[in-house]
Amino acid sequence: MIACRPLPRFESGCSCLPVAARHSSLLKATDRCVMCGMCLPHCPTYHLTRDEAESPRGRIALIQGVLSGRLEQTPRLEAHLDHCLGCRACEAVCPSGVAYGEIIDGARAALAEQRPPAPRWRRLAWHWTTGVIADRRRLYRAARLLRLYQRSGLQQLARLTGLTRRGTLGRLDALLPPLPAPCAWPSQLPAQAEPRGEVGLFLGCVSDVADRATLDAAAQLLTRLGYRVHVPAAQTCCGALHLHNGDPATARTLAQRNSAAFKAHTLEAIITVASGCGATLAEYPAQDGAALGAPVRDISTLLNTLDWPEELRFAPLHKKVAVQDPCTLTHVLRQNQAPYSLLARIPQIELIALPDNRRCCGAAGSYLLTQPAMAEKLRDEKIAALKASGAEILLTSNIGCALHLRAGLRAAGMEIEVMHPVALLARQLETASDR
Ligand code: SF4
Ligand code: SF4
Repeated sequence: MIACRPLPRFESGCSCLPVAARHSSLLKATDRCVMCGMCLPHCPTYHLTRDEAESPRGRIALIQGVLSGRLEQTPRLEAHLDHCLGCRACEAVCPSGVAYGEIIDGARAALAEQRPPAPRWRRLAWHWTTGVIADRRRLYRAARLLRLYQRSGLQQLARLTGLTRRGTLGRLDALLPPLPAPCAWPSQLPAQAEPRGEVGLFLGCVSDVADRATLDAAAQLLTRLGYRVHVPAAQTCCGALHLHNGDPATARTLAQRNSAAFKAHTLEAIITVASGCGATLAEYPAQDGAALGAPVRDISTLLNTLDWPEELRFAPLHKKVAVQDPCTLTHVLRQNQAPYSLLARIPQIELIALPDNRRCCGAAGSYLLTQPAMAEKLRDEKIAALKASGAEILLTSNIGCALHLRAGLRAAGMEIEVMHPVALLARQLETASDR
């Protein structure tokens, strides 16, 4: 397979390049597509619709048409592009090395520039949301308010009165796990064993407030294995939300902030616990001061490459555990085998891969909110597969997938625990007093 040639991803919609140059760079990237159709059976939206315009090949043809001026930028054309999950299953199987992820992000940015401005309320909501996730103090404040909403009975009242039954608000409410109190991180966590090296921990935005348990588990395992873990306070959101929604300029600013935060330390690797963030960080451009100065590693991948000391042992787990492979871990980072080998350290565990694991679950960043019909159809297939498997625990390495699948399981009345592989590993870790 030919390796994908990365486009200047974070520049694809950047106003510092002339529009014609950006369009021609995008068109050149689409030229690599020989229209063979080998990607079609792998595309989740084509799988659901059997419509060529909902396939990678069809979308590339639409992008070529609209950027070259042969097609008009109609709402129907934009809807076909918006339905794309950005899962990049097509890119992973393309024999011509078409950089589909770059193309769809670039096309969205190009079309966003050409359409009339969105209503004011929508622009304000976008600015507010992206502003909150990029600023940890505001993020923690928002998390505290949401926690109050959950614990004061307001959430229950909103659900009883049907206020959150429909619409984006309802979908957000359904996704929300019980939130822990947000708590600031120390700038570094000392090694708890023979020193092995220094790593940075990337917190993310949603993970830090909705999945602190996984971050704590990652920090615990890393320090027990001898790593000093740096947690730079100046780090921010990875920029994935902006990049995939036609705002590469803000994504680039966030990349530069992360670069400055992590480059201040000499690190062996930067560790992520959410593969969505990991995939974005790993593709930061080398130019513009956005490179991170150390390789990005998914936590399972790093832990899997280490020699583990004898004294770190795990309690047996007599349960069937299903593993979901997030698209970003499978098709972008291509590290989806790591959680399986890592979890094999737990005695008696019965590990299974969720059927059709290479197909997206429908979470896909903000897709679960913006394209609920498609997102729920894809999720329903996962829930049915999970039910048929008889698994008692579902593991996933991406927070977006975890929230989406957990909400689906709740709606289906199924009590299956959803967690990160590393959180399960830390839970099974035996202390000296257990032996
Ligand atoms: S994107 Fe790749 S696999 Fe799909 S039609 Fe084009 S060349 Fe073929
Ligand atoms: S990124 Fe995923 S949804 Fe989009 S065209 Fe490719 S396979 Fe289909």
